[in-house]
Amino acid sequence: MKHRDQIRQIAKKVNKSGQRSEMREKALPADEVMAILERTRERDYSYDRFLSTMCTRPHPIAIKAHDMFLETNLGDPGLFPGVAGLEEEVVRMLGELLGCPLARGYISTGGTESNIQAIRAAKNESGKCGGNIVVPASAHFSFDKIGDLLSLEVRKAELDSQLRVDLSSVESLIDEHTAALVGIAGTTEFGQVDPIEELSDLALEWGVHLHVDAAFGGFVLPFLDRSFAWDFSLPGVKSITIDPHKMGLATIPAGGLLFRNQECMNALETETHYLTKARQASLTGTRSGAAAAATYAVMMHLGREGFREMVGYCMDLTDHLVRGAKEIGVEPLIEPVMNVVALRVPEPSKVRERLMDRDWHVSITREPNRALRLILMGHMSHENVDLFLKDLKEVLSE
Ligand code: PLP
Repeated sequence: MKHRDQIRQIAKKVNKSGQRSEMREKALPADEVMAILERTRERDYSYDRFLSTMCTRPHPIAIKAHDMFLETNLGDPGLFPGVAGLEEEVVRMLGELLGCPLARGYISTGGTESNIQAIRAAKNESGKCGGNIVVPASAHFSFDKIGDLLSLEVRKAELDSQLRVDLSSVESLIDEHTAALVGIAGTTEFGQVDPIEELSDLALEWGVHLHVDAAFGGFVLPFLDRSFAWDFSLPGVKSITIDPHKMGLATIPAGGLLFRNQECMNALETETHYLTKARQASLTGTRSGAAAAATYAVMMHLGREGFREMVGYCMDLTDHLVRGAKEIGVEPLIEPVMNVVALRVPEPSKVRERLMDRDWHVSITREPNRALRLILMGHMSHENVDLFLKDLKEVLSE
């Protein structure tokens, strides 16, 4: 009792500062709750000034589809055969986009879950306990979580001068305990594409699973003028992460995980005694069908043509930004491959802080390639890129 009183007192104090409230005894009318929510939402920043995020405003049709399927549960698909069918359609469309119409998979909660599951499948398939995985030094931090969760050593291969993974470094790290190799098609910090074709050869030579993390690049690479070999058309590629909630314009949390065939998926399945389907491969149990429906809606509505246009727009913004940056004496670390730019500036952390003071949300890359990191998503405009460049010039001369 004493303990409860103490907690209440703390809650009241926090309440006064407007940060937290305790569970009310009496109901609060819906319009008052909504007024609180509206005020709260106003405290969030606006996408117009975001140059740091790989997420964007979802397409309006994705929002409608998301709302329509919000209460469905793909964790128990026999109760929701409609949305379960939509998820299968999405997997089919993604498989076809990635060079394998018969690919299997599901709509996850994002890149982290897809990467965890891909490596879990590789580990289960290989039967290697306490083994290792070889990832590029540029890999997303989800691979550090994976090492911890799956008790795998995460070996990080060096990058070459173009910030792609160095193949000789990868080769020096593989051994008989390697459960998976990872290549990235659109690195988080530089938007670079690893030499997936060569990684595929290495994976076949060593008989290990090659996972391609295309969480960001999956909805960019198929729509660029320049073509890359990176997907299931390469025989060594066993699984791919592709996130519809990033460049796919779907709602958060739409993630995509695809396997070349059912065997890889089987390595993830557990029995489900009380549900409508006997086996389940997803990491989460209950999962809304909203994200799958949103992904289906955008892919159908935009088609390849619409995505080509959207990616073209983002690449145009990227060129505009890089041209403007060069005019003020700022060079990119590498010529951008996709709509991710790393700019070489002195003291990137300070520059970031000063830009944040001017309401620009930017980020920085890790050592040893510290730079200002910018993502040119569809929510950005040419006008805002010009305003940003003007501020960057001023910040650099302060
Ligand atoms: N992989 C890559 C290449 C990413 O860029 C990201 C996030 O930006 C992730 C994985 C993780 O995705 P999520 O934040 O949706 O879990």
